[in-house]
Amino acid sequence: MSKGITSRSEDYSQWYNDLVIKADLAENSAVRGCMVIKPYGYAIWERMQAILDKRFKETGHSNAYFPLFIPKSFFSKEASHVEGFATECAVVTHYRLKNDGNGQIIVDEEAKLEEELIVRPTSETIIWNTYKGWIESYRDLPILVNQWANVVRWEMRTRLFLRTAEFLWQEGHTAHATSEEAIAEAEQMLEVYADFAENTLAVPVVRGRKTENERFAGALDTFCIEALMQDGKALQAGTSHFLGQNFAKAFDVKFTNKEGKQEYVWATSWGVSTRLMGALIMAHSDDQGLVLPPKLAPIQVVIVPIYKTDEEKANIDGFVKNLQTELSGKDISVKYDDRDTQRPGFKFAEWELKGVPVRVAVGARDMQNGTVELARRDKQTKETVAQEGLANTIEVLLEDIQQHIYQKAIDFRVSHTTEVNSYDEFKQVIEGKGGFVSCHWDGTVETEKRVKEETKATIRCIPLDAKEEEGLCIFTGKPSSRRVLFAKAY
Ligand code: AMP
Repeated sequence: MSKGITSRSEDYSQWYNDLVIKADLAENSAVRGCMVIKPYGYAIWERMQAILDKRFKETGHSNAYFPLFIPKSFFSKEASHVEGFATECAVVTHYRLKNDGNGQIIVDEEAKLEEELIVRPTSETIIWNTYKGWIESYRDLPILVNQWANVVRWEMRTRLFLRTAEFLWQEGHTAHATSEEAIAEAEQMLEVYADFAENTLAVPVVRGRKTENERFAGALDTFCIEALMQDGKALQAGTSHFLGQNFAKAFDVKFTNKEGKQEYVWATSWGVSTRLMGALIMAHSDDQGLVLPPKLAPIQVVIVPIYKTDEEKANIDGFVKNLQTELSGKDISVKYDDRDTQRPGFKFAEWELKGVPVRVAVGARDMQNGTVELARRDKQTKETVAQEGLANTIEVLLEDIQQHIYQKAIDFRVSHTTEVNSYDEFKQVIEGKGGFVSCHWDGTVETEKRVKEETKATIRCIPLDAKEEEGLCIFTGKPSSRRVLFAKAY
């Protein structure tokens, strides 16, 4: 099977596109900027959803669903919010088509909406308009709601998964009686995301705070997790916002506190999207295809039989049946690829391309010897192991693969995080090996913008664990009290 994937060293961006297409994850659609997520890609997204959904529920949240459309007037109620999203909104103006009499279907101008509807780019406004009816007293708080949905942001430059005009995501929207509680919620959800990224996706992330310039439109504080891709570019993998009382004020959502006084409600929102698919692909995969961390892989083990006669096949089938039962008992997902339409070599290449962590090949001679060939996708190594205890061997191997993929990503990040103390050094690293650049910054929007204009690098975050350290801004020489992380980003 010819894979036809461009190598990373030749053209990283093309490698990414080739991989998404060849591994059958997604493809471009007839609609500009919108993708078709194919079954294998969607199966990975479903794994992400299932694991995250469980964690949201464990932290006290429930799912609900709100409308796709937002009346324009709602959208305009929070000034900075509308300003932030105005340039990328899809607007519904009519509700009917008609035949123009010449066989052409045209918009019926008589069916003009009295008030235009915005296709949600995010749901704070429609949700806070709804919460107004749900909240009267402190007894109604907190509200801990999450929605799984699609949203539309009219992005001009799109890339499969990483940045699309329509994307799938979850958005949590919570309401609280106090500022402290809301901040604690935003921090808690950031940690849920970080833990998911590191322990499930095997992608190490920096937990941080966005600068004013990069903050969510309408938020007082935006927390984020930032990951590093193999080409040295950063990717914002998730955000959690402390919204203060901005949306409660815009939608007049008040509650009576324990002292009987009226107060505005405090809010958070937090989201991760199908961009995580992009993060997953770009963080681990290689020139042979996808490399999936076992905890996320929809298929963790694939078994390929190698035989000539029906009798040999029947013998292998019996062994595989037992192995499947044992693996399923350990909650390990396994596929027996006994298609007789493809040769083993083709199957090997296909499952390698699709990133299945472990491959078991078993032939007639193996059956005589009581062995199988066990191959791991991450290191592309194989060995002959005993059939006895194989389910246990595989269980241990999956754990080892998960650890190895994560450690490799950490090592990459360590070797691609550079401390610099001058603008010359800064430019050299940004234009050279890339990665995170840790340096002092004077804290102004102006400096951040100038650096971005000159180098394309942005402040990815102010790391939450940044130590107090006296220093001088690399651009203006003004005093600074802690380092921030710059990088070129997706
Ligand atoms: P935000 O509401 O802007 O904080 O974004 C929430 C999450 O969606 C973040 O993790 C973003 O990285 C992600 N995201 C934002 N825009 C897009 C897009 N066009 N395509 C895919 N994911 C996106």
